[in-house]
Amino acid sequence: MANSAVKDFFWPPVVQGDYLDAARKRCLLVISIAVAVVGLFSGLIGFENAFALYPVQTLIAVLSPLVFLICPFLIARADNVRNVAWFFLIYSYMGLVSVPLIAGGLFSYSNFYMLPWVVMATLFLGWKQGIGAAFVIFGTYMTLHLMRGSIPVGVYEISRDMISNWLLWGLSLTLIMLTTGAAIFQREMERAAVKLSEARIEAETANKAKSDFLARMSHEIRTPMNGVLGMAEMLDTTELTDQQRLYAKTISTSGQSLLTIINDILDLSKIEAGHLPLECKPFELKHCIDDLAVQFELSAAQKQIGFHVDYDDTLPTQITGDAGRLRQILINLIGNALKFTEEGQVTLSVNGSTSGTMADLIFTISDTGIGIPAEKLGEIFHKFEQVEGSLTRRFDGAGLGLAISRQLAHAMGGTLSVRSNFGEGCTFSFEARFPLVHDTAAMAGETGRSNVPKPSQPALGKSNIDLQTRRPRILAAEDNEINRLVLDAMIDKDKYELVYAEDGLEALNAFKTSSFDIVLMDMSMPRMDGLLATKEIRQFELENNLERKPIICLTAHAFRDQRDKSLANGMDDYLSKPVSKGRIDSMLEKWIKTAESDRNVA
Ligand code: ADP
Repeated sequence: MANSAVKDFFWPPVVQGDYLDAARKRCLLVISIAVAVVGLFSGLIGFENAFALYPVQTLIAVLSPLVFLICPFLIARADNVRNVAWFFLIYSYMGLVSVPLIAGGLFSYSNFYMLPWVVMATLFLGWKQGIGAAFVIFGTYMTLHLMRGSIPVGVYEISRDMISNWLLWGLSLTLIMLTTGAAIFQREMERAAVKLSEARIEAETANKAKSDFLARMSHEIRTPMNGVLGMAEMLDTTELTDQQRLYAKTISTSGQSLLTIINDILDLSKIEAGHLPLECKPFELKHCIDDLAVQFELSAAQKQIGFHVDYDDTLPTQITGDAGRLRQILINLIGNALKFTEEGQVTLSVNGSTSGTMADLIFTISDTGIGIPAEKLGEIFHKFEQVEGSLTRRFDGAGLGLAISRQLAHAMGGTLSVRSNFGEGCTFSFEARFPLVHDTAAMAGETGRSNVPKPSQPALGKSNIDLQTRRPRILAAEDNEINRLVLDAMIDKDKYELVYAEDGLEALNAFKTSSFDIVLMDMSMPRMDGLLATKEIRQFELENNLERKPIICLTAHAFRDQRDKSLANGMDDYLSKPVSKGRIDSMLEKWIKTAESDRNVA
């Protein structure tokens, strides 16, 4: 313990990774002791003769270097080593300048010691102070030069002894200061560089672990949520008393709110980690806005407020960008406008202009709601920031929507801003540039059945069995019992015949021994996962010259790369959990229809 205290005193440790601070302390400490010892030693040379002639000056000259021994104590106590450095530099400067002035003459060799002072200022305090020190030294030398006529002749004659002494002690000291300073700084900076790169690797690993954790948590939470939401939805279709219906609805809406929060947190973490890829695909702007209008007209009507869309018909109909993320921003803004408006109306206007191959679009959402106080206008775009304090809050929400929307707007190279008169309503504006679509073939591809490239996929071929005379057979590979129950409740047995497999291997075997029209394939399953099972099924179809059956990925993974992976691995479509009856129905209908039309073409 005592040993380490002594060691820390003479060799201050690196605290909280601050290598520069440690290097400064060590350097200052070594140099202070060196200056004190060498200064004292050089003062003692010829002490007797000098003392006989000038007793006071000689004593001051001999003892003053000892003041530098205060430095180690100051360093051990100092919170801020820079103050000690200032003391060192100012004290030595005054000492070195005062000697020629007091003792007379310009040729006192002590003022040569000021040269390393510039280097010391740089190392101890920083490059700006180093440059400042250079000016101070130059100014001092210049002043002494200009005053050379009025300064009394020096008490020392320049003798061979004097030059020899200067060479020995002055240069030794200068050498010690420069070498030690450079060596200590070099060593500490090298260590700092190594630590920095280690820290970077650690941070990257931690970031990856965070993403993996989020993906896993999202998957784990979505799986039971599929059970909760699916069953609540199905419960609502049964005969219930009013009270029971209210309970079932409450389970649904609470579950939906929980899902929204999970999705928001996932989005935010992806944006912050820089992992939010934006799609760049052609889409119909008008369709996108019409869909939104349909979605919100009902909720506005329920609140008895007006909802208007003001769409500039001269705008180009087809643009390129990430339609899903654009929709997400607009849903957020319109959702907020409806949430915070009790009477009056909400208006979505879409305006803009085109220049060359680009469209500059402005989406404006204005409401006649409670408005936002001026001092809060900047804050509401920060995460978890809400105008009302969490204890007094009347409105739902986690305070993430605007933070995500603004980040998405920035990712699209656009801006999201707000104006408001408190008590009278708000106007949010999202402005961004979107490239125009000139290639109509690209648009045609967009409205086709799937937009992810599927290498060498044969078209769905002619079926041996006519679907008009029997129910389509669905093979559902799902290892989770509750999720099987949900599928069972949602899929209409009058319309479809449903067969279950409890893992990928069972699904593969079932597929090989029986005939199915559609496969619903979970991704994570024991024994054989959904991706491998799909590959094996595709292989089996190829080897046996069978028609290609649609395989729909059914998974709790929420990330887009999972979807792309499943499509690239031979699946045809994607349904994320929690599923709803509506989404399953339309997915099954879509693929049955596709199979039929392919058959008619063939
Ligand atoms: P949330 O709506 O989930 O609380 P947001 O990030 O979407 O989170 O919004 C943050 C806050 O900004 C809201 O809580 C609300 O105080 C304020 N706000 C957003 N939109 C409006 C609006 N149209 N009118 C009044 N206040 C709004």
